[in-house]
Amino acid sequence: MKSQEYVLLEDEYGAHNYKPLDVVIERGEGIWVWDVEGRKYMDCLSAYSAVNQGHCNRRIMDAMCEQAKKLTLTSRAFRNDQLGPFYKELCELTNSHRVLPMNSGAEAVETAIKAVRKWGVMVKGVPENEAEIIVCRNNFHGRTITIISFSTDPVSTTGFGPFTPGFKVIEFGDAQALEAAISEKTVAFLVEPIQGEAGVIIPPDGYLRDIRRICDEKGVVLVFDEIQTGLGRTGAMLAEEHEGVEADLTLIGKALSGGFYPISAVLSNSEVLGVLKPGEHGSTFGGNPLACAVARTALKVLVEDNLIGNAATQGAYFMQGLRAINNPKIKEVRGRGLLLGVEFHPEAGGARQYCEKLKEAGLLCKETHETIIRFAPPLVITREEVDWALERIAPILSQ
Ligand SMILES: *Cc1c(COP(=O)(O)O)cnc(C)c1O
Repeated sequence: MKSQEYVLLEDEYGAHNYKPLDVVIERGEGIWVWDVEGRKYMDCLSAYSAVNQGHCNRRIMDAMCEQAKKLTLTSRAFRNDQLGPFYKELCELTNSHRVLPMNSGAEAVETAIKAVRKWGVMVKGVPENEAEIIVCRNNFHGRTITIISFSTDPVSTTGFGPFTPGFKVIEFGDAQALEAAISEKTVAFLVEPIQGEAGVIIPPDGYLRDIRRICDEKGVVLVFDEIQTGLGRTGAMLAEEHEGVEADLTLIGKALSGGFYPISAVLSNSEVLGVLKPGEHGSTFGGNPLACAVARTALKVLVEDNLIGNAATQGAYFMQGLRAINNPKIKEVRGRGLLLGVEFHPEAGGARQYCEKLKEAGLLCKETHETIIRFAPPLVITREEVDWALERIAPILSQ
């Protein structure tokens, strides 16, 4: 079948909750993908940073196949031989004390919300049903009803109410706003260290340290959503490391499986996860042996193949190349590691047209919020491949 026929099938039989570029991908390897016509593209989105280790990474694939032949799911009614080692390895790599495994990113966020509320009632002494969680404007934490209850994007919220109460929105990057918003009922501050979906928004220097100090002073749990920024993407295992800060809860997902399988986790540095007792929270697939085997290898690949250092090196080089593009329509080029954003002035007429042209030139990326293009290739990209990308990007973004 030709691309157009697949597009028609999706549009006819599928819900229209996405507006993808019309490229029908059938195969991937490393940073490259191929469409059904055999055209080759560089993937500069990495499934929103889920394939940091590159498409169809050989070692992860082997681990997945091997585990799939042995055991895939026991439920947590029983123990399995992958879960304990997964916990230990993940804790050692992220300097955490305890892990709670889930499947999607949104479930990790939901888990954190439940845990901090319970902690608030059990430990902090907040009256039942009165806990407050502070979040930031333009956040993205997922798509469930509770999570969209504190989204500030009307596209995400309109028509979906009634919403879950208990959230307070402040400006991102403003530590004083956090200090002012905290009350004795505040149990947690949930924030992305870099806002990804909002358009790669980097907070002012010192912000993470300041919010850490404020949360310590006020007895508020600091929760970092590192589902997009974590696991090497920004040139550090976790983006919080750029300011030498540790959250009380850190949420990861996406690249935890290298794109093979939905796996997420709540990492805990404090005793917050300790408030959850048997039966109070769970997931049939959470912590299953197939997920754990895949995640163990996906983490090994990040470390042993030096993908984190490579993200820092190639990211800096990529950003330098993007900054050299001279076009008054470009408002700003920003990023950290291989999470890069190019923002256009509104007069440029939107970022989508550039993404369409880049696709024709063999490079896949996606606009976010109308005026911003995010470049986030798999972390296995080489300097020569960054040059290849820049040779195509520069003439198109100069238009
Ligand atoms: C993608 C993402 C999520 C949601 O993850 P899903 O697996 O799509 O549910 C949550 N937070 C951030 C920062 C994300 O980028």
